[in-house]
Amino acid sequence: MDPIVKLGFIIAFSLFLLTCSQQHGEEDLYQAARRRMVKEDIQKRGIDDQRILQAMLKVKRHLFVPESYRPMAYADRPLPIGEGQTISQPYIVALMTYHLHLKPDDKVLEIGTGSGYQAAVLAELAKEVYSIEIIEQLARTAHERLQALGYTNVQVKSGDGFFGWPTHAPYDAVIITCATPTIPERLVEQLGEGGRMVLPLGAERFHQSLTVVTKRGGKIERRLITDVVFVPMTGEIGEGKK
Ligand code: SAH
Repeated sequence: MDPIVKLGFIIAFSLFLLTCSQQHGEEDLYQAARRRMVKEDIQKRGIDDQRILQAMLKVKRHLFVPESYRPMAYADRPLPIGEGQTISQPYIVALMTYHLHLKPDDKVLEIGTGSGYQAAVLAELAKEVYSIEIIEQLARTAHERLQALGYTNVQVKSGDGFFGWPTHAPYDAVIITCATPTIPERLVEQLGEGGRMVLPLGAERFHQSLTVVTKRGGKIERRLITDVVFVPMTGEIGEGKK
């Protein structure tokens, strides 16, 4: 072989190896950050459900945030995802998921797809996930992202989650990831017997109560978990239309 061509091959191959090892190194760093997050920010705060911890360890949160925020993807805080919206703090994702008490055969409805991160965590734990996002651009990006990551059990649609997704009801669990001043009745209707709903409930901008609603014998029971801060639900329930 011509020495110049040979040299060209060697350089190209070295560059290929270098890129691979850089990517590997980066993935290892993210994995270490994920381990720290699960241990320090989630497990130490009392979440001991192994299935949830495994799911949080598996889902690559850095792939759900804008590139400029990737280095902070595993920090103990919410992060901006564009369109004035945020991806929740990892602990809050785990806490809300915990209170859904998901079983592998469950069907879940999520209101507020955002980045699709919570939907991915749900998809690791349940059979089917349906998620509604009111901002079309976010719905589209989340859908593409979840598809690219191989989540075949998640469906995303753009629309007002206030009305739920009756086609696939009843749901074993409903999670609302935007704050609502009242418990949306349509969503209670779409919850099956024994179903669980977790939502940030409250009309205040910077303070709501994370609430668990259970449906038994057609009636609902409420339980408060802790104080949280979520972006408000817009659309039908939004300001002036209550
Ligand atoms: N679960 C998301 C974070 C959600 S932030 C994640 O894991 O990234 C709350 C989201 O709720 C925002 O994207 C916002 O656009 C959406 N939202 C607000 N009102 C809504 C409504 N009525 N129906 C559906 N989505 C809504």
